[in-house]
Amino acid sequence: MTDSDNAAKESGSAAAPSNFIRNMITQDLADGKHGGRVHTRFPPEPNGYLHIGHAKSICLNFSVAAENNGYCNLRFDDTNPAKESQEYVDAIKDNIRWLGFDWHGEVRYSSAYFQLLYDFAVQLINKDLAYVCSLSPEQAREYRGTLTEPGKNSPDRDRSKDESLDLLARMKAGEFPDGAYSLRARIDMASPNINMRDPVLYRIRHIAHHQTGSDWCIYPTYDYTHCISDAIEGITHSLCTLEFEDHRPLYDWILHNLDLESLQEVSDLAGSGYDYVLPEQTEFAKLKLNYTMMGKRNLKEMVDAGTVDGWDDPRMPTLAGLRRRGFTPAAIRNFCESVGVSRSESVVDMSMLEHAIRDDLDKHAPRAMCVLNPLKIVISNVEEGQVQHLNMANHPKDEAMGRRDVPFAREIYIDRADFEEEPPAGFKRLVPGGEVRLRGSYVIRCDSVEKDADGNIERLVCSADLETLGKRPEGRKVKGVIHWVSAEHGVPVTVRLYDRLFNVENPESKDIEDYRTVLNPDSLQVTESAIVEPSVVSDRRSDSYQFEREGYFCLDPVDSSSEKPVFNRTITLRDSWSS
Ligand code: ATP
Ligand code: MG
Repeated sequence: MTDSDNAAKESGSAAAPSNFIRNMITQDLADGKHGGRVHTRFPPEPNGYLHIGHAKSICLNFSVAAENNGYCNLRFDDTNPAKESQEYVDAIKDNIRWLGFDWHGEVRYSSAYFQLLYDFAVQLINKDLAYVCSLSPEQAREYRGTLTEPGKNSPDRDRSKDESLDLLARMKAGEFPDGAYSLRARIDMASPNINMRDPVLYRIRHIAHHQTGSDWCIYPTYDYTHCISDAIEGITHSLCTLEFEDHRPLYDWILHNLDLESLQEVSDLAGSGYDYVLPEQTEFAKLKLNYTMMGKRNLKEMVDAGTVDGWDDPRMPTLAGLRRRGFTPAAIRNFCESVGVSRSESVVDMSMLEHAIRDDLDKHAPRAMCVLNPLKIVISNVEEGQVQHLNMANHPKDEAMGRRDVPFAREIYIDRADFEEEPPAGFKRLVPGGEVRLRGSYVIRCDSVEKDADGNIERLVCSADLETLGKRPEGRKVKGVIHWVSAEHGVPVTVRLYDRLFNVENPESKDIEDYRTVLNPDSLQVTESAIVEPSVVSDRRSDSYQFEREGYFCLDPVDSSSEKPVFNRTITLRDSWSS
């Protein structure tokens, strides 16, 4: 049993769909590659919160490990202290656990390998495979060349080993300012792959790190760090997204140019008896979703500018936002399985994510009634003070979810939209002189409409057919069924309705200069005067409910209080996106 077995089973990955990565791993196991081991890792940089795209990578890495009795590490690739923080580290761990996965052993940090990485850099210098370069970052960019032109050698490319070793030690000791020197691999300035043109391995940065404090003032680059961290942890399959495809030659170059024994010695596999085999990188396509954006830089900017109400704003594509919106871990895992894993980039329709959450909540969310925009009705043939306790099923298809008490009395609320004085053709709800069924209760008829001095409807006076509880009305058909809440017993709540955050399918497209110009101004609508049936607040049967005819809602975990419950609409009942 591995750590993530439970979530993997829960999400149904016993019958997990095959994809090219699952097939590759099956083949590797059949071939006895990596000594029959499967060890993956999820390697976030703690420079923001996780989003739904990361969930795809998390599900893939943890599931393929669990399916093959392997392990999956959580490793923070924390090589850029300027953009990282402990807040992000904590949020990422919390999000992964919430999704239903648990990493193998302790949380890993690339920063914990800084000394080892430094020692390997010394090894590369000693092999004449790296040198200290004095070009400024701007000069280095100039020397690098372009896609069509080869680069130029740095004037320091032939610097002697001893001199480079000395300079690297002095860089580490803090003798030089930021940018004065860098350590570069000596590969090929004419390579058609720009990543291979003597890439930088270390840069000087006089800045404290969230894990290592002020121990270091030189920091290794991502490319240099990632492959060695994988090798240290005994990773077999290093799964990443397609933008790293062109970095794979560098990944392999670094690992293959270090002494295998020196890697093995410091790896988790040291002394384990397993054959030590280098990790291999495989790329898959990123998840892209329409009507949202996933670039961490843009997401952070929206948070910092107050465009949204934090990383966990329910309109954000972050896991924290989706969670607060009422998405369930199972729905997100199912969505990640259903989008599949391949090497071709495509944009997934938001309606697929919505389908996944509707599917889960339809099965698991108890039903209740909530009137968002109340219109009072007085039922003239029900006496004042008289209360009838109706017993309603919590779920139409699942008796095991039990029943609840719904009080019915003389004054009730219905939704304003369910009454029309001058109904359009085909309107099946309440009209003057017409009848409608109150869900789980009686058929009522609208006898009169009462208005204020300005002609606004104040309330309706209706009469109930008291023979119609659980029975059809005699001699006539009543088509419409509407939801309602007892005025005396109902509880006032705040309801937040969400719409897409952007008005365009791809707010990050090159054609759009500034995503702020395509924000949907109506992405959040707040209703302060909604009324919910009392059982929802009194017995807290669930975190999520289906409010009949209005959608799925959850109690907001941050702003809700017992004095004023706040409900977030997770999703409407029907697809509203495919217009
Ligand atoms: P940055 O813009 O900071 O590079 P990133 O989204 O790539 O952001 P990382 O923290 O590097 O952030 O991502 C961690 C892992 O998640 C990486 O292996 C990355 O490939 C994967 N990942 C990131 N975005 C997606 C996505 N949209 N779909 C699938 N996997 C993703
Ligand atoms: Mg990245």
